[in-house]
Formats: sequence, structure tokens, C-alpha cells
Amino acid sequence: MAFGLYVHFPFCKNRCSYCDFYKELHSVEQEKDFYEALKIETELVARDQAVIDPEISTVFIGGGTPTLSNIRRLTDWVELLKKHFTFAGDLEFSIENNPEFVTLEKLEAYRALGINRPVFGVQSFNEKLLKVLKRKHKPFSVYKSIYLTNVLGFENFGVDLIFGLPGQTARMLSADIDQLIDLEPPHISFYQLTVEPGTDLARRVHSGRLKMPDQELNLALYKGGCAQLAEHGYRRYEVSSFAREGFECRHNLGYWEGGDYIGLGPSAHSFVRGRRSSNVADVREYIESLTKKGKRPVVEDRSSLDDRMLEAIMLGLRTARGIDRHQFAARFGVALEKKLDQTQYKIFLESGHLLADSDSVRLSDEGIYLADEITRRLIK
Ligand code: SF4
Repeated sequence: MAFGLYVHFPFCKNRCSYCDFYKELHSVEQEKDFYEALKIETELVARDQAVIDPEISTVFIGGGTPTLSNIRRLTDWVELLKKHFTFAGDLEFSIENNPEFVTLEKLEAYRALGINRPVFGVQSFNEKLLKVLKRKHKPFSVYKSIYLTNVLGFENFGVDLIFGLPGQTARMLSADIDQLIDLEPPHISFYQLTVEPGTDLARRVHSGRLKMPDQELNLALYKGGCAQLAEHGYRRYEVSSFAREGFECRHNLGYWEGGDYIGLGPSAHSFVRGRRSSNVADVREYIESLTKKGKRPVVEDRSSLDDRMLEAIMLGLRTARGIDRHQFAARFGVALEKKLDQTQYKIFLESGHLLADSDSVRLSDEGIYLADEITRRLIK
């Protein structure tokens, strides 16, 4: 059975205002220790009976800011990975990048390692909005990164764009999308900005210094953005994910469709043969556990079967394919209908927000715009 493999590189140069991912400020010393621990973790996972001799179909190095990684250390780790695991012939190998730190040498090294899908955190081309996000890169770094990506012949790459920023108008978003489309990325992630507790953005919003767009404006921005992307041949295959034909992110599809994945690095999650776990979200503890005790810093997930069914429904409804009834029944031993509120289900079928046949249940184009609300009402 093929696996997806995620690695969390937990270091950044600064903290973006909206970000609640686990990360630490980058230090060369700690990065070195992190890689030592990561190598031990990789060997322990390879020996784990539950994942013995797996074929890896996708690798995703996220963060954090993996672009900051020392290339020699990254190379050593990838070599180790290849020694212990079999890479699928059509391996999708992604790495997240902050355009601020992209160089020709780094992209060349990625290619040499077999990384075939760099992803760039563009977020916006508007310098005022980048400041609100506390992103330090300039639009020029994005142009340069993608120019180099093309020069080096990467056929596949992705970009992330955020909408719903304080002060953003429909015209501003449309200008951002136009600039992005000019760069011809095969894949675009188009996310709505959310205010996460404990972030700098949350403090500024709660103190009244920044005002988030209301629900109506956010919906208008999303609809307008989707229409603009569709006009240029980007198919929405998940609420926030758009791709040209054949360039959907297989790694993420694996998550959404209930596939197995191994997570390495602090705060990374794993789902292997029905067992879920997560690594401690603390780089010091992570390093200590692996290098001093030779133990994986794993916290077993205590979610119930019911929680996992609800999650599968939520994730499935976000995708264009919807929830596969047969897969759902095979995975949980329960028919999908049993977990849906039948009154709400009929209401949404009649209103055309939900589409169903003998194989799947999915949201229509209109339904996608109300995905969260419909999901909330459908789940028993
Ligand atoms: S670069 Fe990414 S991980 Fe780091 S603070 Fe910004 S959004 Fe968060």
C-alpha cells in the first residue's frame, strides 16, 4: 500500500501575523540538531512493523520555511529516505517555499534530489496587504522564483494566494489573480484568511486596529476569484484548490480521501493503517526524545470512530469528487446515510446544493459556497 510522507521543517525567519502553525525562529545550531533527530525518526519509522517496506507515492516538505534549510543536510536526509523506502515511479515530491529565500542554487539542488513540485507562498502582490500579513517578501521575489522555476524546467509547481484580507477590495483581489495567472502556475491554492487565536492578527483585529471583511464580502471575493480562475482553465477540485488538468496535488488528495500518511518532524501527524498519531509540537522535546532516548515523540490520538467519520464527511464534502459511499462504508463499516441528518439531506438535495448518486454525495457549485454551513447542518 502506498503512503504519503509529510515532513515538518519547524523554522522561520519571522512570524507572519496570521500564522498559528508550530514554528520556531530559525537558528543554524537547532536546525542541525533537528536534522539529526529527523534521521533517527526516519529510521525508527522504517523499522515500524505497521509501515514495513512501504512504497511512498508522495512526499511533502512543509513548515515552517523549508527554503531556509541547509542543502547538504536536506540532501543527507533525502538519501537516507531513499535507502529505507521505495519511491513510486511517479513520485510527487513537493517543497514549500518562501519566495524571499529562493535562489537558483536551491532550486537546482531540489531538482537534483528529485523534488519535482516547488510550492511558493505568494499570498498577495499588494505590498500594503503583504505588510498586514507581516510577510517580508516583495512581489519581485515571486517573479524571480517562478522565472527560475521555469528556467530549470520544473513542469509542475504551485502557488498559494490568500483572500479576505483587511482592506482588500474585489478589484485588489482581481489584480492579484491576474498577476498570478500571468505566471502560469499549474496549481493554485486560494485560501480565505482566518483569524486564529493567539496570533498578531487576532490581537490587532480584537483591538480594533484592523477590520476583517464581513461574510458577504468574503463570499463575493471567493465567488469572483473562482470565476476568474475558471475562466483561465483552473478547475476547482477542492474548496481552496485549483489546478490545470492533471496537476491536482496528489499528496493533499491522499489526506482528503482517507489515505495513509506518515508525518515526520515536530507537530506532524500520521495516519497509518487506521491508527492516528501526532508528534509533540516542541522542537526541543522532539530532538531530545529522538537523540537522547531513541524514542519517537508520539502522542496517540484519542479521537473516536465517530470523530473520524465526521472528519471524513467534512473533508470529503470539500472536494469536487465528494464522499465516495463505497469507500466510506468499507472504511467505517457504516453506510454514509446513517451519519447524515436525513431531514437536512433531503432539503439540500431538493434545493440543488447537494448532488447524490449511487456512488457519491457531493456539493454542487452553489453548495460549495456554503460548504461550512451545509456540512454543519448535515452532520448528525
Ligand atoms: S513563513 Fe509560513 S510557517 Fe512561517 S510564520 Fe509565515 S506563514 Fe507561518
